[in-house]
Amino acid sequence: MFYIGSHLSTSKGYAKMAETALSISANTFQFFSRNPRGSKAKKIDEDDLNKMIYIIEENNFGPLLAHAPYTLNPCSSTKKVRDFASQVLKEDLEKLELFPKTYYNFHPGSHTGMGAQKAIEIIANQLNGVMTSEMKTTVLLETMAGKGTEVGRSFDEIADIIKRVNHKEKIGVCMDTCHVHEAGYDIVNNLDEVLEEFDEKIGLKYLYAVHLNDSKNKIGAGKDRHEKIGKGKIGLDAIDRIINHEKLRDLPFYLETPNELDGYKREIELLKSLRK
Ligand code: FE
Ligand code: FE
Ligand code: ZN
Repeated sequence: MFYIGSHLSTSKGYAKMAETALSISANTFQFFSRNPRGSKAKKIDEDDLNKMIYIIEENNFGPLLAHAPYTLNPCSSTKKVRDFASQVLKEDLEKLELFPKTYYNFHPGSHTGMGAQKAIEIIANQLNGVMTSEMKTTVLLETMAGKGTEVGRSFDEIADIIKRVNHKEKIGVCMDTCHVHEAGYDIVNNLDEVLEEFDEKIGLKYLYAVHLNDSKNKIGAGKDRHEKIGKGKIGLDAIDRIINHEKLRDLPFYLETPNELDGYKREIELLKSLRK
């Protein structure tokens, strides 16, 4: 099954999101677990959520991806920011227990000066403080482009976090194609080798999802600028190889390209036409 969808807005509710996904030929989607810039989580409307669940089950959707807010920084050098992050992680994970087959994606954070090594320990401690053996949700660390003091810019750093997480059956990785490209991994010319390195350092069994984006910048730029599919420095041929790769093809793919809905619809149709 080719699970492909895009990031969607939650502003009109959950059921509407599932309807919107259908209208752009998607069979999964990503949404923010709460306002990306704000802090307060809205209370869940259970009727609305149940309608969404009905639609995604009727239409055999793939796993949904809840994205934590960008403001979340579990490894900030400021205690207040770290405490806020642990509260958001806890609340979001509690909320997601109401959702069917959902992954929770978050940026490991920015170490803001303390160094990646110390930050890695803090991130793992944060996760160990909120993850339980009973939870249904799998928590995904997103591979980062390496902007500023971002942690998770290399497979080594991601592996280092996972190594320290207690509930390994509940932790995984979401690979963002724009981010890994900008972090210096040559997925354009050496996809096989990049995936081999991922397997050696992290383990492919931890790879649960792909953020499918082209990149405005060349390899190693470390800036994190997404581009429309086929319009950037990754290019359509490489994206074709990614969605069809034997080690990736069964994962869900989520577009975070700079598009409105009609643009997402065109990209989803294009990607489906490339699928072998
Ligand atoms: Fe992200
Ligand atoms: Fe992403
Ligand atoms: Zn990004």
